[in-house]
Amino acid sequence: LYNWIYARGVTDLEAMTNLSKDLRQRLAADFRIELPRVALHQRAQDGTRKWLLDFDDRNAAETVHIPEPDRGTLCISSQVGCTLTCAFCHTGTQRLVRNLAAGEIVGQVMLAQDALGARGAAEDRRKLTNIVLMGMGEPLYNYPNVKAALGLIMDGNGIGISRHRITLSTSGIVPEIGRCGEELGVLLAISLHAVTDELRDRLVPINRKYPLSELLQACRDYPAVKNARRITFEYVMLRDVNDGEAEARELTRLIAGIPAKVNLLPFNPWPGAEFECSTELAMQRFAAIVEKAGYVCTVRRPRGRDILAACGQLKTASERKPASAK
Ligand code: SAH
Ligand code: SF4
Repeated sequence: LYNWIYARGVTDLEAMTNLSKDLRQRLAADFRIELPRVALHQRAQDGTRKWLLDFDDRNAAETVHIPEPDRGTLCISSQVGCTLTCAFCHTGTQRLVRNLAAGEIVGQVMLAQDALGARGAAEDRRKLTNIVLMGMGEPLYNYPNVKAALGLIMDGNGIGISRHRITLSTSGIVPEIGRCGEELGVLLAISLHAVTDELRDRLVPINRKYPLSELLQACRDYPAVKNARRITFEYVMLRDVNDGEAEARELTRLIAGIPAKVNLLPFNPWPGAEFECSTELAMQRFAAIVEKAGYVCTVRRPRGRDILAACGQLKTASERKPASAK
């Protein structure tokens, strides 16, 4: 069963012909194997796809696929909405919140594999090579389900995507960072976004509970770091808020000694947001300072903006449906 479902993606019990007919019938009487229902599938001009998934209780979450010439990255959600309220993030304004079950998380990957035809031959598998937990929700606030789902995703007899190709992004839930490193060993991305507690308290309010010093210590202690696996520091570029040259220098001072790369995220606007994206020049200057200090610094080019699929733009349309439709 495990092989049929996770390695081959077969959900029809009748097709599992090496199981006895009797067993298949008994299973069919008691269980169903289903992928999340797709309420909406959109494709952006740049090939990015977004699926809005509708779960049994009518809650919804989004999954995004970002194709690149030699690989494909799937951005999956761990919660419906998010309980945290980062000032620049659309997801954080969503009212409905619940944890996704492990099946709902792994179902996102299986659904994308089906839709992309990403199983079997190496050439097909190249369409979905990497996974980032960077969709809706804070994955470390749903750790047990994320752990169970990643177990299936990373298992060589299951879906079989290596931990070195999976990145979990967190706003900084310090106590869970260590567990994640020890039990899952996936790559870590930290939503840093500010270099002083004063500003980070405002932009990423969980900082009031787990301030920068504790967060950076958790990064230094992250097991994969000891094997020289780099941590990604994500830094959203907000015009005249956190994007100055002094901040860039302070950033390099803060992360000194941590094997790291820095990923600048141009702010993606959404209706009602109070911020603007930094200018191209400010982003270049910031990146140059970080690079001069010896770190790789990339600017994450927004993908799928025209279908609100870019970072921080996810917020399910389910919220906008009238109550009677729920
Ligand atoms: N909750 C986790 C996972 C989400 S990852 C986390 O916060 O890390 C999504 C990334 O996009 C995070 O780094 C998040 O801070 C960033 N982000 C949120 N809103 C954004 C916006 N409007 N523009 C650009 N990046 C944004
Ligand atoms: Fe939640 Fe991450 Fe958005 Fe913050 S940035 S509100 S933690 S999804």
